Amino acid sequence: MAKRVAVIGSGVSGLTSIKCCLDEGLQPTCFERSDDIGGLWRFTEKVEEGRASIYRSVITNSSKEMSCFSDFPMPEHFPNFLHNTKFLEYLKLYAKNFDLLKYIQFKTTVISVRKCQDFSTTGQWIVVTESNGKQVSDTFDAVMVCIGHHRESYVPLQSFPGIEKFKGQYFHSRQYKTPEGFEGKTILVVGMGNSASDIAVELCQRAAQVYLSTRGGSWVISRVYDNGYPWDTVIHTRYSNLIRSFLPWTLLKWVTEKKMNEWFDHENYGLVPQNRALMKEQVFNDDLPSRILCGSVVVKPVVKEFTETSAIFEDGTVMENVDVVIFATGYSFSFPFLEESVIKVENNQAPLYKHVFPPQLEKPSLAVIGLIQPLGPIMPTAELQARWATRVFKGLSVLPSENTMMTDTLKRREKRIHWFGTSRSQTLQTDHIEYLDELAEGSGAKPKIFSLLLTDPRLALLIFFGPCSPFQFRLTGPGRWDGARNAILTCKERIIKPTKTRVVDKITFTLKSCIVLTQSENLFAKVRLWQSADVLKDRNVKHGPK
Ligand code: FAD
Ligand code: NAP
Repeated sequence: MAKRVAVIGSGVSGLTSIKCCLDEGLQPTCFERSDDIGGLWRFTEKVEEGRASIYRSVITNSSKEMSCFSDFPMPEHFPNFLHNTKFLEYLKLYAKNFDLLKYIQFKTTVISVRKCQDFSTTGQWIVVTESNGKQVSDTFDAVMVCIGHHRESYVPLQSFPGIEKFKGQYFHSRQYKTPEGFEGKTILVVGMGNSASDIAVELCQRAAQVYLSTRGGSWVISRVYDNGYPWDTVIHTRYSNLIRSFLPWTLLKWVTEKKMNEWFDHENYGLVPQNRALMKEQVFNDDLPSRILCGSVVVKPVVKEFTETSAIFEDGTVMENVDVVIFATGYSFSFPFLEESVIKVENNQAPLYKHVFPPQLEKPSLAVIGLIQPLGPIMPTAELQARWATRVFKGLSVLPSENTMMTDTLKRREKRIHWFGTSRSQTLQTDHIEYLDELAEGSGAKPKIFSLLLTDPRLALLIFFGPCSPFQFRLTGPGRWDGARNAILTCKERIIKPTKTRVVDKITFTLKSCIVLTQSENLFAKVRLWQSADVLKDRNVKHGPK
């Protein structure tokens, strides 16, 4: 009989976990506390307990070619960065395509997961759920915990003396929905992550003034990267990764800093990260520098103290008549239905082997999926975690000894601190391609670039120099997908499709104009060349798609 797996949550991680169970011939039952799929990506006007809550305007900061599941590309007409409603639409298409909905019990909250008495021989769990006030208990061979890590607000009020006296309104970014109601107000946003920057930029269009208070700064980059391609399709290539891994630390730091400052000088904008050597998650915001330039967002240092009406900053400056303070100070996570002996969360960290398995369990029958903040998108990462976990449940992939797993977990922590620092916002941070490859090794899905060079050189070169898209992990091994090769070869077309909605022919230079340029050193001739090119361009313009 097929093993029964309880999947807790039906967001990105839960949906792909159900699919991976089915692919491995396991029998999933998914419990979802809310009334629909999508998790964080399903916007609601009201904040729901136990589920992540987003503001209406959230747009993905990872692009569609990098943020899809590996055997289900996004429709080619979808924009490269998606509004939350569009991303939810993709998740719904995925669930429909693989017929996942029938495995989900909605409005059903998991309240307890306990080892069976004979756990050391069976690895089974007793899962207690609650629905409409009724509790039900059931036994499962394995459990996949897919509850996300943006459910619990982190508001470090102890770091802000005087906040209890503050007479204005204050709340966490999780409560923020839309800019309505903030017209004409003076607003202080605390934090310098993606939430803080998005909210500051949105509010400054309505508020009297927005201040953005940061203690550590951040690199801010545009979603639009080299030659107009989405940032992650340029940064996350195997080629760039290899170069980065070979560069000496000081040179890497210098190159990164230079690249980050290409758009604007972070020092002049008061945003430069305190510790520039760290590779912590960037802020992706196309508008923030412009808002700072226009004065509608003013960057301030950390708040030292609040009074009834004002904020006093570390540098001694005072902001009077503050109406609203928004703490965009990140999140905490916990596993309310698990005993500490299974996973003990300390300082916002959980000791999990490769971020998935509790090392000390007698049987590897519980996996945490999506408890991670990779430098790239979480979707393909969660998917590979689930592919690996389901193979472990089936005994097709074997975990090392507890000792080896503990040592690996500690080493990983040291590496993380070295690369990303000790800040609370970085405790789940990992690199991207290295981690994907590691997981893919566990599920036999790592692309074999060298052998492909001999059999399919075009594909091999695209895998190495092109975006490290999820399809790379469906070319080989169990779960191989026939469409993967074509999805890689046509990736660039899908990126361009939604932007090239007015087709313009390529500029062609006449031989005569080239000769003018090469023969003439003077500026006048160069100007004439560009003028003639413009004339040609105008003549070739066609309106609307071909
Ligand atoms: P979630 O989406 O949080 O889903 C968890 C599900 O579990 C929910 O449906 C919840 O109701 C359910 N659940 C919880 N507890 C229980 C229980 N006890 N019983 C039953 N059900 C339960 N990542 C990216 O890669 N790209 C992005 O562009 C991006 N943008 C983001 C924007 C914002 C504002 C935030 C906060 C995060 C963003 N992220 C992004 C990270 C985000 O976490 C992932 O994109 C993704 O949503 C994680 O999916 P998940 O399934 O792990 O968790
Ligand atoms: P976050 O990344 O954890 O950032 C929290 C911020 O609060 C950090 O700048 C942190 O500073 C600051 N902070 C924490 N404690 C503080 C204190 N005591 N005093 C002063 N500052 C303090 O949280 P987030 O911005 O909500 O983002 C959470 C995740 O969601 C991220 O992965 C992010 O990429 C994602 N997200 C994505 C989008 C999008 O796609 N558009 C939008 C929002 C969020 P330090 O760094 O100095 O600790």
